[in-house]
Order: sequence, then structure tokens, then C-alpha cells
Amino acid sequence: MVSSVMSSARTIPKSDFISFVRKYLVVEGLPCSRHCEKPTHFAALMEDRNKLVGAYVCPDSYVVRIVYFELTNHDMDWFKSFVRSELEGGSFVRDRDFRIATRHGWELGGNAENEIAAFTNPSSGIKEYYWTFYAKTNEEKKLGNFLCERCGKLFTHPLTLKSKICERH
Ligand SMILES: [Zn+2]
Ligand SMILES: [Zn+2]
Repeated sequence: MVSSVMSSARTIPKSDFISFVRKYLVVEGLPCSRHCEKPTHFAALMEDRNKLVGAYVCPDSYVVRIVYFELTNHDMDWFKSFVRSELEGGSFVRDRDFRIATRHGWELGGNAENEIAAFTNPSSGIKEYYWTFYAKTNEEKKLGNFLCERCGKLFTHPLTLKSKICERH
């Protein structure tokens, strides 16, 4: 028993929920907005059996959007504080820029509707929370959020700077 716990700590098997989210709800290749038009990819920021938080990031590390999926708790407040702490207090992380959508199996094609039934009530669907930075002031319009290539943390700096490495290094 002890040994199985220890070995599973390194290679946690993906739950049906996380597999489903990655298969149907995570999208690759959408164009970057506000920064460039290059295709974005999904980078996980936090993952466990019932929770996935990640960022859509362009090849120059600009963060277009942060998304959060959770099977049970549906905790928007947790997500808000997560984003704020990732952005070191995030003075321009505003409540109104957080949104929520419900994704249903029937809109996702393939076998999504059957697969969703393995872990939740299909009629309630899966909640997708997301946060997008909308610049308000002229000062904010010059700034963007990036994902550090070296430490995997988010940081904010001027859009014109080309560095993909945060100031912690
Ligand atoms: Zn970009
Ligand atoms: Zn860093």
C-alpha cells in the first residue's frame, strides 16, 4: 500500500475528467491576440485529478488567457486568488474580467457526451472559467503578461520587450 502511494506520486494517472478536458476543451493553435497573430499552445500551470489550470501562450510567451476547469468545487474565488497570486498581486486583475461558460457533451462532438457520463451528470456539463487581461489605461495598454521560459511563472512587462525570462533570474 505504502509503495503504491509513493510510486503514484510521480506518475499520477490522469483521471477521466482531466483526460476529457484535455481532449475536448483544451484547444491548440488559436491565434494570439493583442500581441501577435502566431498560434498559441496550452501550458498547464496546475493540475491534479479534478482540477486543471493553464494558460494559452504564444511562441513569444505572451499569455492570451488563463483557464480553469474543476470537476467538483467550482470555486471562482479560488481561481481569482490563484491568478492574482501568480501575477504577484495583479493590480489589473479585475473581477469583471473573469468569465464562466458551461460546456456540454452534445456541443463537443465525437464521443464527448458518452465520455462525460463517466465522471459527471451529462446534463450539468463542465464549467470553464477564464480570465483575460483587458487593458484600460494607456499605461496598461503598454503591458502584457508572459510565462517565464525558465521558471514557468507568470510575469508582467512591457509588450515591446522581447525577453521570455522573468526578473527573478
Ligand atoms: Zn503573441
Ligand atoms: Zn522566471
